[in-house]
Amino acid sequence: MARFGMHLSIAGGFTNATSRAVELGCDCFQIFSRNPRTLRAKPIDRGAADAFRSAVAQAGLEPVVVHVNYLVNVASPKDETYEASVSALTDELLRAEILGADYLVLHPGNHLGSGVEAGSERIARAIDRAYEDSGSSVMISLENMAGAGTEIGVSFGELRSICDLSERGKSLGICFDTCHAYGAGYDVSTDRGLDRTLGELDAEIGLDRLMFVHANDSKGQLGAARDRHEHIGEGLIGVAGFRAILRRKELRDLPFILETPVNSPDDQVRDLAALRAAAGEGY
Ligand SMILES: [Zn+2]
Ligand SMILES: [Zn+2]
Repeated sequence: MARFGMHLSIAGGFTNATSRAVELGCDCFQIFSRNPRTLRAKPIDRGAADAFRSAVAQAGLEPVVVHVNYLVNVASPKDETYEASVSALTDELLRAEILGADYLVLHPGNHLGSGVEAGSERIARAIDRAYEDSGSSVMISLENMAGAGTEIGVSFGELRSICDLSERGKSLGICFDTCHAYGAGYDVSTDRGLDRTLGELDAEIGLDRLMFVHANDSKGQLGAARDRHEHIGEGLIGVAGFRAILRRKELRDLPFILETPVNSPDDQVRDLAALRAAAGEGY
C-alpha cells in the first residue's frame, strides 16, 4: 500500500507539522528544516528535536522527509555561492539527522552556463564533502527537475552521472516528482508514457533507488520545462494520469508526498482525498 502525505509548514515549531499531519490523516510528510528564504539558520534546539521525534513515533508517521532549502546551489560555478551552498548542505544533513528524518531531498542544482558536466562534478564533490563534514547518515535523495533555466537532473541519465561521480553515489536515493517529469517531457499521464519513463529510470539508475514520489499535477505542457505545480486532477496529468501512476507496480507501494499549491487549508484536504481516490481508496 502506498503511503500518502504532503509538505507541511514548520511555522510556530516542528511539532506543528506533526499535529497538522495527524489532523489531515497523513501517513508521511515533508518539511523544510529551516527558513526557506535565507541560507542562515539557528541551530535546532535539542528539546524541540526530541519533541518532534516522539510526536512522529507516536503518530506512526513514516517516512519523514526534509527538503533542502531552495537557495542552495551546489552546481554553482561561483566559488562564493558554492562554498555557502556546501556548508548549507552540510547543515541540512546534520539537521535532518537531529530530527530523525529518513530522507533529505536535494535539487541537484543550476549550472548557470558552466555546462551540465562541470555542474555535475561540483554537485558530486559537494555531496561527498557534506557527508564527510556532517558525519550524518541520512540518505540524500536527488530530485528530477523540469528543465527550467540551467537545471541539472532533468533526465535520469543526468541523475545517474551525478551518482557515478560521487563517492557516495551508490547510497543516494531518487525522488521522482511527477510535475517535473512531465515538464521534462516524460509523459507520466499515460500507460505508454509511464512504460517509457519507468523503463528509462530502471535502466539508468535502478527502480530500487526510487525512495518516494512527489505527487504534483502540472500546469505546464508536456516537455515545456516549466515547474508549475497544480492540484491533483486539475492539471495536464489529470485524474486519469494519477490513476495510471498509482496503479503501477513500480510505484504503488512507495510514499507519495503532495507539494500542490495551498491557498486555503481546504486545498490540502482536497488534494489528499483526490490522491487517495486515484489510488482506489475511499475518502
Ligand atoms: Zn523539490
Ligand atoms: Zn518536488
